[in-house]
Order: sequence, then structure tokens, then C-alpha cells
Amino acid sequence: MSFFYRFLVLLWRIVALSSGTLFSFEERKLAIFGPGPDRPRMGQNPIQRFLLNIAGDLKPRDLPRVVFANPTYSCMDNRMTKGIRIQPMSLFDTHCHLDVSAFDADREAVLGRARQLGVRDILVPAIQRSGWAFLLDLCRREADLYPALGLHPMALEQHQPEVDLAALEQALAEHRVAGIGEIGLDYFLPELDRERQLALFHAQLQIAREARLPVILHVRKAHDEVLACLRRLRPGGGFVHAFNGSLEQARRYIELGFALGFGGMITYAGSTRLRALARDLPLEHLVLETDAPDMTVAAHRGERNSPEYLPDCLAALAEIKGEPPERIAAITTQNARRVLGLEAPIP
Ligand SMILES: [Zn+2]
Repeated sequence: MSFFYRFLVLLWRIVALSSGTLFSFEERKLAIFGPGPDRPRMGQNPIQRFLLNIAGDLKPRDLPRVVFANPTYSCMDNRMTKGIRIQPMSLFDTHCHLDVSAFDADREAVLGRARQLGVRDILVPAIQRSGWAFLLDLCRREADLYPALGLHPMALEQHQPEVDLAALEQALAEHRVAGIGEIGLDYFLPELDRERQLALFHAQLQIAREARLPVILHVRKAHDEVLACLRRLRPGGGFVHAFNGSLEQARRYIELGFALGFGGMITYAGSTRLRALARDLPLEHLVLETDAPDMTVAAHRGERNSPEYLPDCLAALAEIKGEPPERIAAITTQNARRVLGLEAPIP
């Protein structure tokens, strides 16, 4: 290593130490932290603003993706020059359609990047029977992917209820799955027949109860109807994906053993109602999700959503709650594991 390079590294450490900023040249990532376990704040002082400017291809919209560095990280650690150490946070994406064709070209790469950012576990809910085999195969190959099988209400026209429900029971007898989903009621789209949705939902809740599996719920404009079904059939609990109901409805879901999923929508400043809801709900019953490839985060508006953007959702929830992301990550991950019955600590 040349003297000049060592000098540059030393200079860099002094700048980093004085500004609370680390930039990994290799990963092109920037980490900024304040004193103590505070959430990272962008551009807090002139040096940080200068570093943001010289950070090359880091565009302003990338900034929410700035990784969370361990506040106790020692800048004298020589790993700094190789890349900043990412806080060993463990995130759980409780709703990610990683099996769909939108990820065919780069599924492994997406998964690799997500893992690097701390997304350690991903629940992959199904849409229709024709996708189950691939989904199960994908989750069998990757230890941190958990499959859920079910018939999505939005794919109503693709389902053959009798055949598919028998196939679901058969699949549960043959494979280990983490839950029944994605199931529910979608009363937002008028073309989806409500009676047929209801019959399919009922039958799947019954299967979930018998199999003692949690359910992954898709609910639009139908929370009271879904709650009525849950009260009648009493499955063990599960996740209400992309929850957007009222505080009272949330309370009733929680009583029935459900955790409420929040994702990309809370990263939009304009989502005032949803953000207020996330603020007012107890953290002990919230989980994070991306719903990739749909419902992308604000920093990637108009693009394919991805599990690697889950840290954006974490950052948004941490900001809304006014709590350190490390705590939000730990509790939401714990909630997800509790609901899925994966209580054992992550090795
Ligand atoms: Zn979904």
C-alpha cells in the first residue's frame, strides 16, 4: 500500500470521525449516524452535506436507503476501508411475491442484496394453484424463505374452487408450509363476485384452522366482513397484509391473534392517514412487509418493488414511531416469528 493511499485513508478516517459519516467506496453506500442509538439523519452538518455531494452515483432519492451503521462502530477498525459494517439487524419481510415472473431475471441477485441489508426472512404468499409448485421449490432451496399456499381473491377467475381446495389440503399433507395465504376479501374491485370470494375465503379459513396454520390476509373495503368470518371460524391468527383499516378494526384483529402489516405506503409523506395509524398502533402487533413486486417505496416510485427496499419501510416506521430502527427491527421481526410459530432465536 503506497504512502499516499495510507495518507488518504487516514484523512478519510479523520473526516468520518468528525462528521459521524462513513462512506463505503466499494459498496457505494453512505452511513450517517448521530450520537447514541439515534436514527441516521441526512446532511446534518457541512461535512456530511459535502460527502453527500461527492458520493458519486448516490442520488438524493437513494438517501433513504442509506444503511444503518452501528452507532458504536469504531472508526479505527480497518474494515472501514473495505466497506462499512452493516448493523446486524434482522428484518422479516412478511409479504413478498418473490416467486412471480417479475423476479425471473435476477431473483438470486435480489435475494443476495436483500440479505446484505439485513432482510433475513421472507414469507412468500401464493396467488393461485398453478404457482404453488414453483413457490414451494423456491422456498425449499432457500432456508430463509417461508412458503404460504392459498388462493388470492384477486385471482378469482383463475381458481377452480373444488379442485384447488382439494389440492390445497393435499399440498398441506405433503409439504411444510408456514401459512395459508394469500387469502381474503377484495370488495374494492367491483368485478370480483362477493359470494364466490366469500365461499373461497371461508373454505380456506377452515383448512387453516384444521391445519393449525396462520393465515395471510388480503383485505380491501371488507374489514368488517373479514372480521366476522374470523370470529366465526377462529383460525389461529396471522397477518393482515397492508393494513389500512381503522384503529377499532385493528384492535379486533389483534384480539384474534393477528399482526398488522405495514410496507411501502408508509414511506410516502402523503400517506397521512396510514402513517397516523402506524403511529397509534402498538408496535408489539406490527410487522413489516414489501408486497414486492407491487406497492413500491417512495424512493423507487414507478419501479419494481423488491425485498431489498424493506429497510426503507423500517426507516419510515422508525421515523413515525420516533424510535431507533434497531428497536423497530427487533420487535417487528419478533412479532413475525411469534405469529408464524418460529419462536426459536435466529442463529
Ligand atoms: Zn400480496
